[in-house]
Amino acid sequence: MNPWRLAAEGGRLEGVLALAVLPRLAELLNRTEGVVTVTMTAGVDEQGIPFVIGRLTAAIEVVCQRCLGSLRLPLDVTVRLGLARTEAEADRLPEHYEPLLVPEGGLVIADWVEDELLLALPQIPRHDDLRECAANGYRASLGECAPDPESRQPFAVLAALLRDSKIKE
Ligand SMILES: [Zn+2]
Repeated sequence: MNPWRLAAEGGRLEGVLALAVLPRLAELLNRTEGVVTVTMTAGVDEQGIPFVIGRLTAAIEVVCQRCLGSLRLPLDVTVRLGLARTEAEADRLPEHYEPLLVPEGGLVIADWVEDELLLALPQIPRHDDLRECAANGYRASLGECAPDPESRQPFAVLAALLRDSKIKE
């Protein structure tokens, strides 16, 4: 794809990509069925900056790093990209754009979409709700003994320690 031409023509980029054709992402997934939906508009803004803006959405399934169960993760990535040929050009872009360095010869759409999705993945994917992990057989080591409220609030303990150490000074 030539994003410069797409921007100059005010074109749109719409379609779906199979998750299975994104190898770096697929490696992290529990299931590679499914698609990424791409909805992008390109153009040139009033400052003459070529841009591509839009959304990438996908429903992926990864392994929860707490219970090792399956975790469904909706990804909804908004992109606002300003096109640049060089690092220097990228640095000059206004702040509301993420720079997109376009290599000679254009972009491979799948690579680019994959990069964006990888960036949007949480570092350590986990169920939001501990009960979902518990349903997969995970037992919180803290919760197993007595329901001591202090032990469930590490920051409260830390705050108490800080307070104590201040007093000693
Ligand atoms: Zn979990």
